[in-house]
Amino acid sequence: MPLTLADLEKAEGPASELVLAEELEETGQKRDFLLEVMRERLKVMREAIARGIKSDEPSVAGMVGWNAKTLWEAEDPLKAPLLKRVQAYAMAVNEENARMGRIVAAPTAGSAGTVPGALFGVADHLGVPDEKLVMPLVLAGGIAKIISRQVFIAGATGGCQAEIGSSAAMAAAAVTELLGGSAEASVHAAALALQNTLGLVCDPVGGYVEVPCVMRNGFFSVHAVSAAQQALAGIRSFIPPDEVVLALAKIGRLLPPELKETGRGGLACTPTARRVVKELQGKEPECGDSAS
Ligand code: SF4
Repeated sequence: MPLTLADLEKAEGPASELVLAEELEETGQKRDFLLEVMRERLKVMREAIARGIKSDEPSVAGMVGWNAKTLWEAEDPLKAPLLKRVQAYAMAVNEENARMGRIVAAPTAGSAGTVPGALFGVADHLGVPDEKLVMPLVLAGGIAKIISRQVFIAGATGGCQAEIGSSAAMAAAAVTELLGGSAEASVHAAALALQNTLGLVCDPVGGYVEVPCVMRNGFFSVHAVSAAQQALAGIRSFIPPDEVVLALAKIGRLLPPELKETGRGGLACTPTARRVVKELQGKEPECGDSAS
């Protein structure tokens, strides 16, 4: 039987070990090989952060490209370095994506910033070496795999809750394990993160993965860290984690097409978005009546 979140929750050791065991069985690969793949993924994430945080080169459609650098270099009146670091890292990766740079889909390109933002942001804040992120990243992958068995992870199918919601769940579980949380805490961190993205629509302006996607990754990387903090404190999801995933899948089916990556509703049909899209594409978006 494929792993469920309930299985992961009951693991005696780290939940990532159960995920890795399933992966080894399914792929027939050696443990060292798979861990090396994860190290390579981490390296790509690290490089995307490093590039993105220094760049102000505009994205393909020109709506983003400078936000991570702006935040990173700004004064911090809140005196909240973790908050700033996590957001800036996440946005750096997504701005790299919007410039067609190299990123790791986690689980998608549009939501690629949340996991590295939260994971590297917390690790760098605490001085944790990159090697310690390997198994948390394995767990992150396992969470996405379990969610994807219930709902196709794409804004076009489930709305942004399926993309950013999944990435926040992945990041929350990974950060919880990184900080020594139990398997139960890690899975509940994922469930807490996921349930608080339910209903989030996919409404990218012009269909470009730029607005609201880049800043959304920044926001939801912080959301993931909050979920980890709650779970590490002992808070648990009232709704069992697998049921949260089912709720996500059902909501995804209920969302109208206008709010599922078509660029025909929500932010994508605001007056400013219509004007910008007309400038970029020569005609206004075909906004659905039910969502405009
Ligand atoms: S709004 Fe749509 S395209 Fe943008 S991150 Fe969310 S799911 Fe992806």
